[in-house]
Amino acid sequence: MMDAPWLRAAKRLPVGGVERFRCCGSTKAAVIFNKPDAWEMYCHRCKSSPKERKQFVQMQRVQQEARVQPAPADVINIADARPSVQQSVYSFLATKGIMPDMVEDLQWSDTAQRLVFPVSSGLSLGRATTTWQNPKWIQYGGKSSFAYIAPKTQPVQGIVLTEDLLSAKKVAHASNHFGSGNLVCVALLGTRLDARLKLLIIEHNWPVLLMLDGDDAGYSGVKRIKRDLKAFPIRVGTFAVDGKDPKDLQMQEILEALTWMR
Ligand SMILES: [Zn+2]
Repeated sequence: MMDAPWLRAAKRLPVGGVERFRCCGSTKAAVIFNKPDAWEMYCHRCKSSPKERKQFVQMQRVQQEARVQPAPADVINIADARPSVQQSVYSFLATKGIMPDMVEDLQWSDTAQRLVFPVSSGLSLGRATTTWQNPKWIQYGGKSSFAYIAPKTQPVQGIVLTEDLLSAKKVAHASNHFGSGNLVCVALLGTRLDARLKLLIIEHNWPVLLMLDGDDAGYSGVKRIKRDLKAFPIRVGTFAVDGKDPKDLQMQEILEALTWMR
């Protein structure tokens, strides 16, 4: 049997490839995908969404994408994404310890197949949703060396530093919904303290709670940041659970960690 036109077109794409496709009507209202385990189409006009699983999956290394690039043109709020996308996005986030109310500004890109988190004006971070996407995080609209989540109330009582954005989101959620709401939560997007961020801390004389991941990279990051701040009269605390990121922790554990600020 001859393949349907969309399937023939999808099979011509490289693994990881995405392309606009004319399913019905006069314009290319559909998107076709060549995923590692299946060929898929989704038509935004007629809502048709056929999928053909690959019989013999041969995992190919997908070419590495640029770490900094312009935002995809099709970024939408997650609330406007089709239900199947919302469902898979939220179950993916749940495996990372993140619940929908912790990421209310979440966006989605079909072409990139990434979660998109706005971090500041014009800047956002794209998180891969499959293990074959490389790198895991992409910066859209420019390079930023940290991502800041504003406190709910002023004056600011202190600052919490995490490695990744999802951990910062979870800590901010704990503080803003169940805690005092006056903490600045910042994802370092790594384990290093950016010079501008260091200056901000010193200027405000904020107590710093280091909540890096409970692994070797996290522990050496903590040591390095403590050394960076040693010359200043800044109160520095640490909290880590071995083998876990802050986003893996229970809400109660995070709230207990935050009591250090008092
Ligand atoms: Zn259609």
